[in-house]
Amino acid sequence: MLILSANINIHEHNIIKYPGVRTYIDPLTYEDPNQAVHEFAQEIDVSFISIERIIGAGEFGEVCSGPLRLPGKRELPVAIKTLKAGYTEQQRRDFLWEASIMGQFDHPNIIHLEGVVTKSKPVMIITEYMENGSLDTFLKKNDGQFTVIQLVGMLRGIASGMRYLSDMGYVHRDLAARNILVNSNLVCKVSDFGLSRVLEDDPEAAYTTRGGKIPIRWTAPEAIAYRKFTSASDVWSYGIVMWEVMSYGERPYWEMSNQDVIKAVEESYRLPGPMDCPEALYHLMMDCWQRERSNRPKFDEIVCLLDKLIRNPSSLKKLVNSSHRVSNLLVEHASVEPANPTLAQSVGEWLDSIKMGRYTELFMEGGYSSLDTVAQMTSE
Ligand code: AMP
Repeated sequence: MLILSANINIHEHNIIKYPGVRTYIDPLTYEDPNQAVHEFAQEIDVSFISIERIIGAGEFGEVCSGPLRLPGKRELPVAIKTLKAGYTEQQRRDFLWEASIMGQFDHPNIIHLEGVVTKSKPVMIITEYMENGSLDTFLKKNDGQFTVIQLVGMLRGIASGMRYLSDMGYVHRDLAARNILVNSNLVCKVSDFGLSRVLEDDPEAAYTTRGGKIPIRWTAPEAIAYRKFTSASDVWSYGIVMWEVMSYGERPYWEMSNQDVIKAVEESYRLPGPMDCPEALYHLMMDCWQRERSNRPKFDEIVCLLDKLIRNPSSLKKLVNSSHRVSNLLVEHASVEPANPTLAQSVGEWLDSIKMGRYTELFMEGGYSSLDTVAQMTSE
């Protein structure tokens, strides 16, 4: 039975915005979680699926691939998530939770659920197959290989998927390049749905002082501080994804500790523009990282802006100025790494001491070849 009671509005996901417009329904509002699964996901007979390869490891079991042959339909390559033997009833529920959410979405930039296998063992979730796997690994493997327009195209896709989710009243909470999948046509799709489960599953999620588990580097300050997760906090995370994409999968805030990241962001420091990043994109990232969440752009505006940039590629020609990048980098790291440039013998040595040695060449190009110029800049 679907419980439509006053508590339906307790959960952020649950807000029924406009009658008649499709809105996300929290599977928690179903008394019986099995009913939620079958409301939103089609049961597939296991005989239609062939498991051919293991492609990854999920929290609940292996992720495999193989063809799905539904009667009367064209054969389809699919990903098959399995629930390993020996699970508890709670684990089965948590596993299928994701399918109850995914099954409600229908958008080209959201991973598509084909169905579930629950009537035989192992229990499975069947989704469309994404040939290039997760976006962070894909970008690292193809460092420097794409045109700016291709990168902006990927970002446009992710923003479009997120616009759809926010229109449905769904807050993702764990938007990051590792949770985006890429197909053979470079189409990016948002994946990894769930609530607390997603964060339990995410190796990046760390416990906060208030006990919640949060992927600090991707999360807006108000969500870290008092768990205010909204589409505006998803926009903050989207800005971090933009930065990950434009830097080909670099780790946001590098090897800074979570505590240092929280402190730096609190003190208004922000990530510097990635190498060769168009200025217009860096401006957009910085907008997504506005402290005041109502000042951040909406996903709708982000999609419109990216479309404009794609239609007018000359707007992407101006790159983030390298000396500006350097000073931005310095200010941030000087604030959290008190290493003093005047104690080092050379710019390279000083950068090594703050684990930024790989930027030595950039400093030289930016005209910061001596420690004097660096010290001058840090004091400015
Ligand atoms: P997950 O448990 O969803 O994080 O999946 C674990 C890993 O399996 C991911 O990091 C991907 O490399 C892979 N994977 C998951 N779903 C798919 C899919 N639909 N297509 C291709 N690879 C996938």
